[in-house]
Amino acid sequence: MDRLEDFIKVEIAAKGPMRVDRFMDLAVSHYYKTRDPFGKAGDFVTAPEVSQIFGEMIGVWVADSWMKMGAPGRFVLLECGPGRGTLMADLLRATRSVPGFHGAMDVHLMEISPVLRAAQGAALAGVDVAWHAGLGDVPDDVPMIVVANEFFDALPIRQAIYQSGEWRERVLDDALHWDSVSISMPPLRDGLKPCAGDVFEFSPAREGFMRDLAGRLEAQSGAALIIDYGHTQSGFGDTLQGVSNHNSADILNNIGEIDLTSHVDFEVLGGLCDHDGIVSQAAFLKAMGIETRAEILARQSPDILKDLHRLVNSREMGTLFKVMGVRYGFGETLAGF
Ligand code: SAH
Repeated sequence: MDRLEDFIKVEIAAKGPMRVDRFMDLAVSHYYKTRDPFGKAGDFVTAPEVSQIFGEMIGVWVADSWMKMGAPGRFVLLECGPGRGTLMADLLRATRSVPGFHGAMDVHLMEISPVLRAAQGAALAGVDVAWHAGLGDVPDDVPMIVVANEFFDALPIRQAIYQSGEWRERVLDDALHWDSVSISMPPLRDGLKPCAGDVFEFSPAREGFMRDLAGRLEAQSGAALIIDYGHTQSGFGDTLQGVSNHNSADILNNIGEIDLTSHVDFEVLGGLCDHDGIVSQAAFLKAMGIETRAEILARQSPDILKDLHRLVNSREMGTLFKVMGVRYGFGETLAGF
């Protein structure tokens, strides 16, 4: 069977209607495992691919967090879903002159795609890197600093729809048409009242990963920076989107060949960990000094100011993207929060 669509139809015929999370899991893994989707010629551009200054600011944050942790002599620097490895490369360059930092770090990458693992290896040539498919085999005996940019949005969600006074779950039937089945709903935030047609998204996969990560950080001590597009308050809305060639696309067209993404519910993630706050990407990057850095670089390459605009303007990535700083085992508040 060569097409993912056929595989999905066969699974539905055998097992019954397919939930959105199973569909998303199959489609997203196939998508990332078979290509490098980033850049102008690809499907979408992420912040580290917009400009080196993004990764540099993350580098400043990581180094600052390491010092606040008491500059441990060995620590795990983990990136989840590193894409092309651009953010990590920029982060490492920006931290080169921090005394003791590179000697103490142990770089680990969590990545499912063999194509992207190869790209990360090339971007990080000369760095000792270990790859993992999950958190399980990342060393658990030293403090940890974790970075995840546009990782949570790729993890699958479930969708509930409010119809005729009750919640139903969105599923696909064996003709790949949308249908619904009964559902036992997770609790909604106090005061959240649905109207007919409202969609509520929730994600056991994201919550499960957040719980695991928080558990590891609590046991090992450390910090995590989670960046994604999403909202700071749970609410209703269908945010599941297909993205192809820089445009939005029908999620049922070209299954496994387009990117699928949905907004991250930071209120839910924030409830699962100890954190210093959830701020906009613009507020975070400005607090890290991105404007000063951009002005210095702009003397040589003025185009950097356009990149800065893209990263921090509220009509671009500045407001839609949120940043959460997770902290365990040390007292000082994280930079940027
Ligand atoms: N952080 C990068 C890439 C974001 S795209 C950037 O900002 O450019 C999402 C990344 O997560 C890709 O590298 C993708 O292959 C990886 N990914 C998606 N699902 C994953 C999973 N379940 N486990 C590990 N990596 C995953």
